[in-house]
Amino acid sequence: MVDGYNREIDYMRISITDRCNLRCIYCMPNGVSWVPMADILTMEEICQIAAVGAALGIRHIKVTGGEPLVRKGCCDLVRMLKGISGIEKVTITTNGVLLNQYFKLLLEAGIDGINISLDSREKETYKRLTGTDGLALVMEGLRAAAASSVCVKVNAVSLDLGYDNCQRMLELAREYPVDVRFIEMMPIGCGKQFLSVSHEKLISRIIQDYPGMAEDYRVHGSGPAVYYQIPGFQGSIGFISAIHGKFCQSCNRVRLTAQGFLKTCLCYEDGVDLRNILRGDGSEEEKRRRLEETMKEAVLKKPKAHCFENPEKMTEQNNMIAIGG
Ligand code: SAM
Ligand code: SF4
Repeated sequence: MVDGYNREIDYMRISITDRCNLRCIYCMPNGVSWVPMADILTMEEICQIAAVGAALGIRHIKVTGGEPLVRKGCCDLVRMLKGISGIEKVTITTNGVLLNQYFKLLLEAGIDGINISLDSREKETYKRLTGTDGLALVMEGLRAAAASSVCVKVNAVSLDLGYDNCQRMLELAREYPVDVRFIEMMPIGCGKQFLSVSHEKLISRIIQDYPGMAEDYRVHGSGPAVYYQIPGFQGSIGFISAIHGKFCQSCNRVRLTAQGFLKTCLCYEDGVDLRNILRGDGSEEEKRRRLEETMKEAVLKKPKAHCFENPEKMTEQNNMIAIGG
């Protein structure tokens, strides 16, 4: 699919639940009310949309949430998505708490990559950020994944937790064959209350401690991270700077919420309700055609760029957990 600015859209992030077993302070507010299960797409409905997406040129699917591994049948869904003609890669992003438990099933389902979200290796800091004591479980999952042939990335939001915290995080790439990426905080929902550390300053500080660090131009996936290599490290260090290094001109993605709303940009509420089509009248063939037309139209109207640098212009009011990060 090509959008109105000639960008090839071949990547769909699919949120399969708005539930989560953590309470990250920048993502999930207290007292959040869950969407009734009847309003959430079934696994079969998700696959119907993915199949239409694949026919239109979607090649990579990222399964997300909420926490995708809390939804029963997540690993079966990965297998079903992998079986869709045209889909080349199915990856998942998880907080890692249930990863060790489901890792074998994910592997058997054919998962192509695992992103583990982890902001701190300090027990107390982890607890303060997530509201739980799950760090040891995340590390178990990380070790299991890193010992396999699956591509593993650790994503840390660039919260101002001190340089020592960043350093301990990046050292994961020395200890394990995983890429560690720092991701600028976006002013979405509760994220508005938190500032990111400057990646420019962080990179200069890291270079002081690791003078051999050099830019790594190898392709690491389809995302917008800028990577560095440090001698002696097994993985690379990446920086995703959505605000200070705006990369909208090469944006390749759309997002499907757990309720079946296709969002074309994180920053705006623009998009189309695909669930209505799936659950509406008409034969399977008519619905497939309607889905195809609606998705193409939505992609053509995909906004040119986000406006995170001017949050007052944003129209998206939901938290990341509701959108599907
Ligand atoms: N629960 C899964 C996880 O944590 O990976 C998947 C969903 S979570 C919303 C996906 C990613 O979004 C996580 O890496 C999280 O840190 C990130 N995230 C949440 N709110 C954010 C914000 N305001 N800005 C940047 N990243 C955010
Ligand atoms: Fe849950 Fe992921 Fe949001 Fe944390 S970032 S609350 S793990 S959905």
